[in-house]
Amino acid sequence: MRKIELLGKTALVTGAGGGIGKATALLLAESGADVAVCDLNKEAVEATEKEILALGRKARAYTVDVSNAEQVQDMIKDVVADFSKIDILINNAGITRDNLLMRMKDEDWDLVLSVNLKSVFLLSKAVSRHMIKARSGKIVNVASVIGVIGNTGQANYAASKAGVIGLTKSLAKEFASRNITVNAVAPGFIKTAMTDKLSEEVKNKMLEDIPLGFLGEASDVAKVIRFLVSEDARYITGQVMHIDGGMVM
Ligand code: NAP
Repeated sequence: MRKIELLGKTALVTGAGGGIGKATALLLAESGADVAVCDLNKEAVEATEKEILALGRKARAYTVDVSNAEQVQDMIKDVVADFSKIDILINNAGITRDNLLMRMKDEDWDLVLSVNLKSVFLLSKAVSRHMIKARSGKIVNVASVIGVIGNTGQANYAASKAGVIGLTKSLAKEFASRNITVNAVAPGFIKTAMTDKLSEEVKNKMLEDIPLGFLGEASDVAKVIRFLVSEDARYITGQVMHIDGGMVM
């Protein structure tokens, strides 16, 4: 496959300690980008930093809680000081705290909404100031098919990801005149730590809903993100790309 060239670009990827975030950070680096990576998990994000450096690209790891406004603002200042600019923002960090609504604790509602949705607001606000000045930028938010179709036991997660989709479309409209595109990806079931914890029974049930008949890999999502931040996608904004083996169509 033709490599999409991102040489000279600086990307910031959240939740890059593992799963989709790590696969995306590495693929952007392979495509030429310098990459700032952040995660709650210090050890994991520093391991990603090392792998990017080994690819010959500039990298720096930041241990940050993306739902914390102060930490996000400090990190963006540091990234701009370290890399001098941010061309690409991938809002990927996300969590689940599943339970039926009647048993869902207020704390689990608040936590999922903060980490999955408020973080996208905080990061986009802080980074867009620099993109607006540069009159150029690409933002990709990682939503989920669950934000489109809902799921039993995931009211908090579904609400957060539906929110990410609404936020993506609003920002796409606000920023279009500044040459900044904002898109979302909606993965289905992808093999990562997030889905590893599901029982075999639940995984088998999921497979029945996937026309292609197999779970996706983190790299399947990373490749679509790489396309969306490339010049090949310059005329695409406000879209939600489903990467789900046909689950939702
Ligand atoms: P993952 O393997 O659990 O990776 C998520 C990463 O985000 C972890 O390294 C995690 O760190 C980090 N993180 C969690 N809370 C954070 C916070 N407050 N601040 C900074 N980093 C934080 O999950 P994944 O499957 O790759 O998911 C990535 C994104 O894809 C999420 O937004 C998820 O909702 C979305 N998604 C995944 C699937 C799927 O099937 N896997 C499907 C649809 C959408 P810790 O390890 O310390 O928690």
